[in-house]
Amino acid sequence: MRLYDELQQELDTLKQKGNLRRLSDMIHDGKMICANGQEMLNLSSNDYLGLATRQDLREAFNKEQSGKGELFTSSSSRLLTGNFAIYGVVEQRLRELFGAENALVFNSGYHANTGILPAICTSDTLILADKLVHASIIDGIRLSSAKYIRYRHNDYGQLEKLLEKHQGEFNHIIIATESIFSMDGDEADLKRLVALKKQYDNVYLYVDEAHAFGVRGRKGLGLAEELDCIHDIDFLVGTFGKALASMGAYIVCREVVREYLINRMRTLIFTTALPPICLAWTDFLLQHLPSFTAERKQLQVLSRLLKQLIEDKGFVCPSTSHIIPLIIGQSSEAILKAEQLQKHGFYALPVRPPTVPEGTSRLRFSLSAAFTVEELEPLRSLL
Ligand SMILES: *Cc1c(COP(=O)(O)O)cnc(C)c1O
Repeated sequence: MRLYDELQQELDTLKQKGNLRRLSDMIHDGKMICANGQEMLNLSSNDYLGLATRQDLREAFNKEQSGKGELFTSSSSRLLTGNFAIYGVVEQRLRELFGAENALVFNSGYHANTGILPAICTSDTLILADKLVHASIIDGIRLSSAKYIRYRHNDYGQLEKLLEKHQGEFNHIIIATESIFSMDGDEADLKRLVALKKQYDNVYLYVDEAHAFGVRGRKGLGLAEELDCIHDIDFLVGTFGKALASMGAYIVCREVVREYLINRMRTLIFTTALPPICLAWTDFLLQHLPSFTAERKQLQVLSRLLKQLIEDKGFVCPSTSHIIPLIIGQSSEAILKAEQLQKHGFYALPVRPPTVPEGTSRLRFSLSAAFTVEELEPLRSLL
């Protein structure tokens, strides 16, 4: 069969199962989104603090920038001529915020997760990863030469057994997890993971805070800040594209790890660095991050409300965060539910296999501090 025919056949199968993905046209208007001629509350964005569309922040930033002239491209990898001074400013700021030895900035969370693990692992490394970690971590594991085992989601009993069984067989073991999980909105027990890894001198902890950075902790540094274990995590990764309303990612780590990554991390070395203007925007937001306490509080209020509404309807809701799934089961039913909500002005998207396990298709609500309680209230009768 010709390649194109094979591709088409596979697409047809996806469509039959209700799993065909499309890029849809949309117009953004603050927290609202307009698609298919319908204006809806955007419940599918990662703009958790509502910073992305804040006019006041953008005006203040533009004012601060005028005259500075940060460029709109770096024209090079950081290893060549792309390492503009603003990179150092952001990394210094992260170092101070986290009180850490050092930090390194990357183009995206995807670059971070697909680059760090392949750089630091050898075939004598074992990675123990939570079953539900983000695709970028899975890709990072696959690109590395490490052996890996995925433990059942948040099943630390199983993890403990795996550590006991394998710790003698490998030079190093890395436990990889998210802090807030992107599809269930539940949390890893970071304290327990820290206690587990401390039982061994060759076990390290890799935590991706993509959904928690900005949102959790007194200064907004994530769940590790909230639980006071920043310094117990060996590879603390987070992203700027979600709550922080910018683009890029970071690792907070030891100096030696940073220097090693600069020498070995292919997704840092072989890619054009983010534009300096983007780093300037990131730095501007990082300066303000500790002060967004009202936004973090509002997000918490909304999260409790929506979880309650979902549970009141008899659904099981694992979420303990601002990411709240309505787990429906069949893809086709999840699609119907999404269409129904969209008709009533709520833009929540269905999430289907392979993003989530078969039979757990869902609507995924991600909340924003820009919403009001009143705006969510109609969901009480719609869910
Ligand atoms: C979104 C996300 C990423 C990818 O980050 P980008 O900056 O969007 O590439 C990585 N890890 C997790 C857990 C995420 O949710």
